[in-house]
Amino acid sequence: MNRNDRSWNPWHGCHRVSEGCKNCYMFFLDKQRDRDGSEIHKNKTDANLPLKKDRQGNYKIKSGEFVRVCMSSDFFLEEADAWRDEAWEMIRQRPDVTFSLLTKRAHRIKDCLPEDWGDGWDNVYLAVSCENQKRADERIPLLLDVPAKHKWVSLKPFIGEIDLEKYLATGQIETVLAGGENYEGDRPLYYDWVKRIYDQCIEYNVEFIFGQTGNYFVKDGKIYHIKDYKTQIDQALASGLQNRNIKLSKENTHMTKEGIYEFIARQKTSIITSVGEDGYPATRALIQPVLIDGNDIYFATYTSSRKVAHYRANSKACVYFYEKGRSFSGVEIKGNMAVLTDQPTKQRFWKPFFNRFYRKGVTDPDYCILKFTGFEAQWFTNQRTETVKL
Ligand code: SF4
Repeated sequence: MNRNDRSWNPWHGCHRVSEGCKNCYMFFLDKQRDRDGSEIHKNKTDANLPLKKDRQGNYKIKSGEFVRVCMSSDFFLEEADAWRDEAWEMIRQRPDVTFSLLTKRAHRIKDCLPEDWGDGWDNVYLAVSCENQKRADERIPLLLDVPAKHKWVSLKPFIGEIDLEKYLATGQIETVLAGGENYEGDRPLYYDWVKRIYDQCIEYNVEFIFGQTGNYFVKDGKIYHIKDYKTQIDQALASGLQNRNIKLSKENTHMTKEGIYEFIARQKTSIITSVGEDGYPATRALIQPVLIDGNDIYFATYTSSRKVAHYRANSKACVYFYEKGRSFSGVEIKGNMAVLTDQPTKQRFWKPFFNRFYRKGVTDPDYCILKFTGFEAQWFTNQRTETVKL
Protein backbone atom coordinates (compact mmCIF):
# COMPACT_ATOMS: atom_id res chain seq x y z
CA MET A 1 0.00 0.00 0.00
CA ASN A 2 1.75 3.10 -1.23
CA ARG A 3 0.50 6.22 0.54
CA ASN A 4 1.78 8.57 -2.15
CA ASP A 5 -0.54 7.48 -4.89
CA ARG A 6 -3.13 9.52 -6.66
CA SER A 7 -6.63 10.52 -5.69
CA TRP A 8 -9.93 10.40 -7.55
CA ASN A 9 -12.73 12.74 -6.47
CA PRO A 10 -15.88 11.79 -8.39
CA TRP A 11 -17.85 14.24 -6.22
CA HIS A 12 -16.98 17.12 -3.94
CA GLY A 13 -18.40 18.52 -0.70
CA CYS A 14 -19.63 16.99 2.53
CA HIS A 15 -21.42 17.46 5.86
CA ARG A 16 -19.69 17.22 9.19
CA VAL A 17 -20.69 14.03 11.01
CA SER A 18 -18.49 13.85 14.11
CA GLU A 19 -15.83 15.64 16.14
CA GLY A 20 -13.08 14.55 13.73
CA CYS A 21 -14.72 16.72 11.05
CA LYS A 22 -14.32 19.94 13.06
CA ASN A 23 -11.25 21.08 11.15
CA CYS A 24 -11.89 19.15 7.91
CA TYR A 25 -9.22 20.08 5.37
CA MET A 26 -11.74 20.10 2.51
CA PHE A 27 -13.74 22.86 4.25
CA PHE A 28 -10.49 24.67 5.01
CA LEU A 29 -9.30 24.59 1.40
CA ASP A 30 -12.73 25.56 0.05
CA LYS A 31 -12.87 28.53 2.42
CA GLN A 32 -9.52 29.72 1.08
CA ARG A 33 -10.99 29.62 -2.43
CA ASP A 34 -14.14 31.40 -1.25
CA ARG A 35 -16.26 28.29 -1.69
CA ASP A 36 -18.65 26.49 0.61
CA GLY A 37 -17.60 22.90 1.29
CA SER A 38 -21.13 21.91 2.20
CA GLU A 39 -22.29 22.42 -1.39
CA ILE A 40 -22.14 18.91 -2.76
CA HIS A 41 -21.73 18.38 -6.47
CA LYS A 42 -20.50 15.83 -8.97
CA ASN A 43 -17.02 16.63 -10.20
CA LYS A 44 -17.27 17.94 -13.77
CA THR A 45 -13.80 17.04 -15.02
CA ASP A 46 -12.75 14.02 -12.98
CA ALA A 47 -15.97 12.07 -12.34
CA ASN A 48 -14.85 9.42 -14.86
CA LEU A 49 -11.09 9.64 -14.22
CA PRO A 50 -10.51 5.84 -14.01
CA LEU A 51 -11.70 5.47 -17.62
CA LYS A 52 -10.09 8.62 -19.01
CA LYS A 53 -7.38 8.13 -21.63
CA ASP A 54 -4.56 10.32 -22.91
CA ARG A 55 -3.91 11.20 -26.57
CA GLN A 56 -2.04 7.94 -27.10
CA GLY A 57 -5.10 6.01 -25.95
CA ASN A 58 -3.58 4.95 -22.63
CA TYR A 59 -5.46 5.17 -19.36
CA LYS A 60 -4.50 8.25 -17.33
CA ILE A 61 -4.51 6.06 -14.22
CA LYS A 62 -1.90 3.43 -14.94
CA SER A 63 -2.14 -0.25 -14.18
CA GLY A 64 -1.00 -1.04 -10.64
CA GLU A 65 -1.70 2.43 -9.24
CA PHE A 66 -3.25 2.88 -5.80
CA VAL A 67 -6.09 5.41 -5.88
CA ARG A 68 -7.62 7.13 -2.86
CA VAL A 69 -11.25 7.81 -3.63
CA CYS A 70 -13.25 10.81 -2.43
CA MET A 71 -10.52 12.77 -0.69
CA SER A 72 -12.74 15.85 -0.82
CA SER A 73 -15.93 14.12 0.27
CA ASP A 74 -17.10 10.72 1.55
CA PHE A 75 -17.75 7.79 -0.78
CA PHE A 76 -20.82 6.75 1.24
CA LEU A 77 -22.33 10.21 1.51
CA GLU A 78 -26.18 10.20 1.24
CA GLU A 79 -26.18 12.96 -1.38
CA ALA A 80 -23.99 10.81 -3.64
CA ASP A 81 -26.39 7.85 -3.76
CA ALA A 82 -27.41 8.73 -7.31
CA TRP A 83 -23.77 8.82 -8.54
CA ARG A 84 -22.29 5.84 -6.68
CA ASP A 85 -23.35 3.04 -9.06
CA GLU A 86 -21.50 4.74 -11.87
CA ALA A 87 -18.39 4.97 -9.65
CA TRP A 88 -18.65 1.27 -8.76
CA GLU A 89 -18.92 0.45 -12.47
CA MET A 90 -15.66 2.27 -13.19
CA ILE A 91 -13.98 0.46 -10.29
CA ARG A 92 -15.25 -2.82 -11.75
CA GLN A 93 -13.85 -1.95 -15.17
CA ARG A 94 -10.37 -1.30 -13.75
CA PRO A 95 -9.41 -4.52 -11.91
CA ASP A 96 -5.78 -3.57 -12.63
CA VAL A 97 -6.02 -0.55 -10.29
CA THR A 98 -6.49 -0.57 -6.50
CA PHE A 99 -9.13 1.76 -5.05
CA SER A 100 -9.16 2.78 -1.39
CA LEU A 101 -12.56 3.81 0.01
CA LEU A 102 -12.26 5.58 3.37
CA THR A 103 -15.41 6.67 5.20
CA LYS A 104 -16.80 8.09 8.40
CA ARG A 105 -20.23 6.77 7.38
CA ALA A 106 -19.56 3.15 8.25
CA HIS A 107 -23.26 2.52 8.89
CA ARG A 108 -23.96 3.05 5.19
CA ILE A 109 -21.31 0.71 3.74
CA LYS A 110 -23.41 -2.45 3.81
CA ASP A 111 -26.37 -0.91 1.96
CA CYS A 112 -24.21 0.84 -0.62
CA LEU A 113 -22.19 -2.11 -1.92
CA PRO A 114 -22.76 -3.32 -5.49
CA GLU A 115 -25.00 -6.37 -5.97
CA ASP A 116 -22.18 -8.65 -7.08
CA TRP A 117 -19.87 -7.60 -4.23
CA GLY A 118 -19.82 -11.15 -2.82
CA ASP A 119 -16.76 -11.51 -0.55
CA GLY A 120 -15.47 -8.21 -1.84
CA TRP A 121 -13.51 -7.19 -4.90
CA ASP A 122 -9.77 -7.79 -5.03
CA ASN A 123 -9.08 -4.22 -6.12
CA VAL A 124 -10.98 -2.48 -3.31
CA TYR A 125 -9.61 -1.54 0.12
CA LEU A 126 -12.38 -0.56 2.57
CA ALA A 127 -11.49 1.66 5.50
CA VAL A 128 -13.09 3.61 8.32
CA SER A 129 -11.79 6.80 9.87
CA CYS A 130 -11.86 6.96 13.70
CA GLU A 131 -10.71 9.98 15.66
CA ASN A 132 -11.26 8.64 19.21
CA GLN A 133 -12.45 5.56 21.11
CA LYS A 134 -16.12 6.41 20.75
CA ARG A 135 -15.90 6.55 16.95
CA ALA A 136 -13.65 3.48 16.81
CA ASP A 137 -16.24 1.49 18.80
CA GLU A 138 -18.97 2.77 16.55
CA ARG A 139 -17.34 2.33 13.14
CA ILE A 140 -14.84 -0.53 13.30
CA PRO A 141 -17.44 -3.22 14.21
CA LEU A 142 -19.42 -2.11 11.16
CA LEU A 143 -16.33 -2.44 8.97
CA LEU A 144 -15.61 -5.88 10.42
CA ASP A 145 -19.19 -6.88 9.72
CA VAL A 146 -18.98 -6.39 5.95
CA PRO A 147 -17.08 -8.75 3.67
CA ALA A 148 -14.06 -7.19 1.96
CA LYS A 149 -10.78 -8.47 0.59
CA HIS A 150 -8.82 -5.69 2.29
CA LYS A 151 -9.68 -3.57 5.33
CA TRP A 152 -7.75 -0.82 7.05
CA VAL A 153 -8.33 1.84 9.70
CA SER A 154 -7.38 5.50 9.67
CA LEU A 155 -6.81 7.37 12.96
CA LYS A 156 -6.63 10.86 11.47
CA PRO A 157 -7.06 13.29 13.06
CA PHE A 158 -6.07 11.28 16.13
CA ILE A 159 -7.64 13.43 18.88
CA GLY A 160 -8.39 10.98 21.72
CA GLU A 161 -6.69 7.91 23.14
CA ILE A 162 -7.75 4.68 21.41
CA ASP A 163 -7.42 0.99 22.26
CA LEU A 164 -7.61 -1.15 19.10
CA GLU A 165 -6.59 -4.47 20.61
CA LYS A 166 -9.89 -6.36 20.27
CA TYR A 167 -10.27 -5.20 16.68
CA LEU A 168 -6.72 -6.08 15.64
CA ALA A 169 -7.17 -9.48 17.31
CA THR A 170 -9.80 -10.36 14.67
CA GLY A 171 -7.02 -10.54 12.08
CA GLN A 172 -9.19 -8.63 9.60
CA ILE A 173 -7.37 -5.29 9.68
CA GLU A 174 -4.31 -5.12 7.46
CA THR A 175 -3.13 -1.61 8.16
CA VAL A 176 -3.58 1.20 10.68
CA LEU A 177 -2.67 4.73 9.65
CA ALA A 178 -2.33 7.45 12.32
CA GLY A 179 -1.74 11.18 12.18
CA GLY A 180 -2.33 14.40 14.06
CA GLU A 181 -4.49 17.34 13.16
CA ASN A 182 -3.20 20.04 10.83
CA TYR A 183 -4.53 22.92 8.77
CA GLU A 184 -6.50 24.93 11.35
CA GLY A 185 -6.45 22.07 13.82
CA ASP A 186 -5.60 22.85 17.39
CA ARG A 187 -6.12 19.52 19.12
CA PRO A 188 -2.93 17.83 20.28
CA LEU A 189 -1.69 14.35 19.51
CA TYR A 190 0.13 12.55 22.32
CA TYR A 191 3.16 10.38 21.64
CA ASP A 192 1.86 7.84 24.18
CA TRP A 193 -1.36 7.35 22.21
CA VAL A 194 0.61 6.60 19.04
CA LYS A 195 3.00 4.30 20.91
CA ARG A 196 0.07 2.32 22.30
CA ILE A 197 -1.36 1.69 18.83
CA TYR A 198 2.12 0.93 17.46
CA ASP A 199 2.67 -1.66 20.23
CA GLN A 200 -0.70 -3.25 19.52
CA CYS A 201 0.06 -3.43 15.79
CA ILE A 202 3.41 -5.08 16.58
CA GLU A 203 1.62 -7.61 18.81
CA TYR A 204 -0.89 -8.51 16.13
CA ASN A 205 1.46 -8.20 13.18
CA VAL A 206 -0.50 -5.39 11.57
CA GLU A 207 1.10 -2.78 9.36
CA PHE A 208 1.28 0.57 11.17
CA ILE A 209 2.05 3.90 9.55
CA PHE A 210 2.48 7.04 11.64
CA GLY A 211 1.98 9.57 8.85
CA GLN A 212 2.48 12.93 10.52
CA THR A 213 2.50 14.49 13.98
CA GLY A 214 -0.03 17.26 13.35
CA ASN A 215 0.33 20.85 14.52
CA TYR A 216 0.59 20.01 18.21
CA PHE A 217 2.52 16.97 19.32
CA VAL A 218 3.05 16.17 22.99
CA LYS A 219 5.89 13.99 24.18
CA ASP A 220 7.16 13.58 27.76
CA GLY A 221 4.90 16.46 28.85
CA LYS A 222 6.43 18.87 26.32
CA ILE A 223 4.28 20.44 23.59
CA TYR A 224 5.86 20.69 20.14
CA HIS A 225 4.24 23.22 17.85
CA ILE A 226 5.03 21.98 14.34
CA LYS A 227 3.43 24.14 11.66
CA ASP A 228 5.37 22.88 8.66
CA TYR A 229 3.72 19.77 7.17
CA LYS A 230 6.96 18.28 5.88
CA THR A 231 8.49 18.58 9.34
CA GLN A 232 5.41 16.85 10.77
CA ILE A 233 6.08 13.93 8.40
CA ASP A 234 9.82 13.90 9.21
CA GLN A 235 9.12 13.91 12.95
CA ALA A 236 6.64 11.04 12.63
CA LEU A 237 9.26 9.04 10.73
CA ALA A 238 11.95 9.96 13.26
CA SER A 239 9.76 8.66 16.10
CA GLY A 240 10.50 5.10 14.94
CA LEU A 241 6.83 4.22 15.41
CA GLN A 242 6.43 2.53 12.05
CA ASN A 243 5.65 -1.08 11.29
CA ARG A 244 5.67 -1.13 7.51
CA ASN A 245 5.69 -4.11 5.17
CA ILE A 246 5.18 -6.52 8.09
CA LYS A 247 2.24 -8.36 6.63
CA LEU A 248 2.76 -12.02 7.34
CA SER A 249 -0.58 -12.88 8.89
CA LYS A 250 -1.77 -14.26 5.59
CA GLU A 251 -0.24 -17.41 4.16
CA ASN A 252 0.26 -15.84 0.75
CA THR A 253 2.27 -12.85 1.95
CA HIS A 254 6.02 -12.89 2.39
CA MET A 255 8.66 -10.85 4.10
CA THR A 256 10.77 -8.82 1.72
CA LYS A 257 14.40 -7.72 1.83
CA GLU A 258 13.21 -4.11 2.25
CA GLY A 259 10.91 -5.13 5.11
CA ILE A 260 13.82 -6.81 6.88
CA TYR A 261 16.08 -3.76 6.69
CA GLU A 262 13.22 -1.55 7.85
CA PHE A 263 12.71 -3.89 10.81
CA ILE A 264 16.44 -3.73 11.66
CA ALA A 265 16.46 0.07 11.45
CA ARG A 266 13.89 0.20 14.28
CA GLN A 267 15.90 -1.90 16.72
CA LYS A 268 18.11 -0.37 19.38
CA THR A 269 20.21 -3.47 20.09
CA SER A 270 22.29 -5.62 17.73
CA ILE A 271 23.45 -9.13 18.55
CA ILE A 272 26.48 -10.30 16.60
CA THR A 273 28.25 -13.64 16.46
CA SER A 274 31.76 -14.60 15.41
CA VAL A 275 33.57 -17.92 15.25
CA GLY A 276 35.87 -18.23 18.29
CA GLU A 277 39.42 -19.64 18.46
CA ASP A 278 37.94 -22.93 19.69
CA GLY A 279 35.51 -23.16 16.75
CA TYR A 280 32.46 -22.35 18.88
CA PRO A 281 30.17 -19.37 18.21
CA ALA A 282 30.91 -16.29 20.34
CA THR A 283 27.96 -13.90 20.77
CA ARG A 284 27.63 -10.40 22.21
CA ALA A 285 25.31 -7.39 22.08
CA LEU A 286 26.14 -4.03 20.55
CA ILE A 287 24.25 -0.79 20.16
CA GLN A 288 22.26 -0.28 16.96
CA PRO A 289 24.17 -0.17 13.64
CA VAL A 290 25.73 3.13 12.64
CA LEU A 291 24.43 2.63 9.08
CA ILE A 292 22.42 0.21 6.97
CA ASP A 293 23.34 0.61 3.33
CA GLY A 294 21.94 -1.95 0.90
CA ASN A 295 23.12 -5.35 2.15
CA ASP A 296 25.85 -3.77 4.26
CA ILE A 297 25.37 -3.11 7.98
CA TYR A 298 28.04 -1.07 9.78
CA PHE A 299 28.90 -1.18 13.49
CA ALA A 300 31.42 0.78 15.57
CA THR A 301 33.55 -1.17 18.04
CA TYR A 302 36.91 -1.56 19.82
CA THR A 303 39.81 -2.67 17.65
CA SER A 304 41.25 -4.51 20.66
CA SER A 305 38.08 -6.55 21.25
CA ARG A 306 37.93 -10.33 21.02
CA LYS A 307 35.38 -10.25 18.20
CA VAL A 308 37.71 -8.17 16.01
CA ALA A 309 40.40 -10.81 16.48
CA HIS A 310 37.84 -13.47 15.56
CA TYR A 311 36.71 -11.68 12.40
CA ARG A 312 40.31 -11.08 11.32
CA ALA A 313 40.92 -14.82 11.56
CA ASN A 314 37.55 -15.89 10.14
CA SER A 315 35.14 -13.47 8.48
CA LYS A 316 32.07 -15.72 8.89
CA ALA A 317 29.44 -13.90 10.94
CA CYS A 318 25.82 -13.75 11.99
CA VAL A 319 23.78 -10.76 13.15
CA TYR A 320 20.46 -10.94 14.95
CA PHE A 321 17.75 -8.39 15.70
CA TYR A 322 14.46 -8.91 17.54
CA GLU A 323 11.34 -7.20 18.72
CA LYS A 324 9.19 -8.38 21.60
CA GLY A 325 5.52 -7.59 21.93
CA ARG A 326 2.97 -10.21 22.92
CA SER A 327 4.32 -12.13 19.97
CA PHE A 328 7.96 -12.24 19.00
CA SER A 329 9.66 -11.31 15.73
CA GLY A 330 13.31 -11.69 14.90
CA VAL A 331 15.72 -11.89 12.02
CA GLU A 332 19.03 -13.72 11.76
CA ILE A 333 21.31 -12.84 8.87
CA LYS A 334 24.30 -14.88 7.71
CA GLY A 335 27.20 -13.11 6.05
CA ASN A 336 30.77 -11.93 6.37
CA MET A 337 32.34 -9.28 8.55
CA ALA A 338 35.19 -7.01 7.46
CA VAL A 339 37.28 -4.97 9.95
CA LEU A 340 37.86 -1.44 8.65
CA THR A 341 40.54 0.69 10.29
CA ASP A 342 41.34 3.24 7.59
CA GLN A 343 40.93 6.86 8.63
CA PRO A 344 38.43 7.99 5.93
CA THR A 345 36.03 5.18 6.98
CA LYS A 346 36.46 5.98 10.68
CA GLN A 347 35.79 9.64 9.93
CA ARG A 348 32.70 8.78 7.88
CA PHE A 349 30.97 6.95 10.73
CA TRP A 350 32.18 9.02 13.67
CA LYS A 351 29.51 10.40 15.99
CA PRO A 352 30.12 13.01 18.73
CA PHE A 353 28.99 10.66 21.51
CA PHE A 354 31.72 8.16 20.54
CA ASN A 355 34.09 10.41 22.56
CA ARG A 356 32.75 8.62 25.63
CA PHE A 357 34.21 5.33 24.39
CA TYR A 358 37.25 6.38 22.36
CA ARG A 359 39.18 8.93 24.40
CA LYS A 360 41.56 9.88 21.60
CA GLY A 361 38.69 10.76 19.32
CA VAL A 362 38.27 9.75 15.72
CA THR A 363 41.96 8.87 15.35
CA ASP A 364 41.90 6.58 18.40
CA PRO A 365 43.54 3.33 17.22
CA ASP A 366 41.08 1.41 19.41
CA TYR A 367 38.14 2.70 17.32
CA CYS A 368 37.26 0.74 14.20
CA ILE A 369 34.28 -0.09 12.00
CA LEU A 370 32.83 -3.52 11.31
CA LYS A 371 31.19 -3.94 7.92
CA PHE A 372 28.77 -6.84 7.73
CA THR A 373 27.58 -8.02 4.32
CA GLY A 374 24.64 -10.41 4.54
CA PHE A 375 23.50 -12.90 1.94
CA GLU A 376 20.64 -14.80 3.59
CA ALA A 377 18.09 -13.99 6.31
CA GLN A 378 15.89 -16.19 8.48
CA TRP A 379 12.81 -14.18 9.41
CA PHE A 380 10.71 -15.41 12.31
CA THR A 381 7.30 -14.14 13.34
CA ASN A 382 3.99 -15.65 14.49
CA GLN A 383 5.61 -19.09 14.88
CA ARG A 384 6.59 -18.99 11.23
CA THR A 385 10.08 -18.98 9.75
CA GLU A 386 10.90 -17.79 6.29
CA THR A 387 14.17 -17.63 4.37
CA VAL A 388 14.82 -14.42 2.45
CA LYS A 389 17.70 -14.14 -0.03
CA LEU A 390 19.38 -10.76 0.23
S1 SF4 B 1 -16.61 13.10 6.62
FE1 SF4 B 1 -14.57 13.68 5.91
S2 SF4 B 1 -14.93 15.07 4.19
FE2 SF4 B 1 -16.84 14.92 5.33
S3 SF4 B 1 -16.75 16.65 6.75
FE3 SF4 B 1 -15.98 14.88 7.82
S4 SF4 B 1 -13.75 15.00 7.52
FE4 SF4 B 1 -14.68 16.34 6.00
